[in-house]
Amino acid sequence: MKFDLYRLVRENIRGLKPYSSARDEYTSDGSKMVFIDANESPYSNGINRYPDPQQRQLKTLLAESFSLSPANILLGNGSDEVLDLIFRAFCEPHKDNVITMPPTYGMYKVLAGINAIENREVLLTESFELDVDRILESVNSKTKVIFLCSPNNPTGNSFSVKHIEYLLNNFQGLLVVDEAYIDFATQGSWLNKLGQFPNLMVTRTFSKAYGMAGLRLGVCYASENIITILNRIKPPYNVNELTQRKAFQMIQNTALVEEQIAEILTERDRMIGQLAKISYVKEIYPTDANFILVKVDDADKRYQEILELGVVVRNRSTQPLCYNTLRFTIGTPEENETLLKVLNSL
Ligand SMILES: *Cc1c(COP(=O)(O)O)cnc(C)c1O
Repeated sequence: MKFDLYRLVRENIRGLKPYSSARDEYTSDGSKMVFIDANESPYSNGINRYPDPQQRQLKTLLAESFSLSPANILLGNGSDEVLDLIFRAFCEPHKDNVITMPPTYGMYKVLAGINAIENREVLLTESFELDVDRILESVNSKTKVIFLCSPNNPTGNSFSVKHIEYLLNNFQGLLVVDEAYIDFATQGSWLNKLGQFPNLMVTRTFSKAYGMAGLRLGVCYASENIITILNRIKPPYNVNELTQRKAFQMIQNTALVEEQIAEILTERDRMIGQLAKISYVKEIYPTDANFILVKVDDADKRYQEILELGVVVRNRSTQPLCYNTLRFTIGTPEENETLLKVLNSL
């Protein structure tokens, strides 16, 4: 099956001439120049200049760690912006559709709504696996993107490699694998397979394992051709100077983050063991992420009780297949102890 990227791009985007910012037209080569081209304030305060629209330093660093090229990377103001750009580049409002697999991350549906794109929902199976046959049956000539999240939020499991490969091989649109929780997973990343599948896109975020949710930095890795298209439509200065600087600094030393991930994984195992002893916890779902989804006797009631004792958890009961479930993020050992104490007191 031949993959035709050009066919997938919205017509107005195909012909679009991107905004050319001052920083696109003249890029500093490090020599001392006088910059009076962008109507910035000339008074130095660390942020008086526009940030690099292509975030070259940051991309070079990220590319190195995955043996990719900066041309395979798009950065955004959180992965939510990255996901929105995918809609806007490829999905024609009121015409095209995408496929999502609930229960999953809520933003895909919201973004489809904002962009006036039909969201075809194909439920996961009872064991939270992909129903690949039904997904492919839902595809028509207007299906541009399949969004899947692995490890999945809120269920916590990673999807079978075979299933995802089957979709990649049998779907002529784009398949986005959202790897927001990949740092907690035993399953490998899809980044290593970008060269193998021209329709594969991988999104990541610095909001979870990397501890920078407040910074707003999301990443999309894909073929150079796909990234070129997304780059044409992104706001010129979508990743601000402070974010670029701080992320650059933090990515250079990941020792602390790795320690934190290890602690979260140890705590996750411990929590699973402790939760299993609680009588009203009916099921603990397997997790490859930094949270645990559990089925309880009465989620609304337990949510309220836990809240009244000062702990905020997530009630996922309104999600399909998730009736009476609560989602617990793994906190510090002390926070986890607090949760256990609260749960045991009910
Ligand atoms: C938390 C989360 C994100 C993060 O989005 P940001 O905008 O980068 O903070 C993305 N995808 C999933 C599935 C998530 O759970």
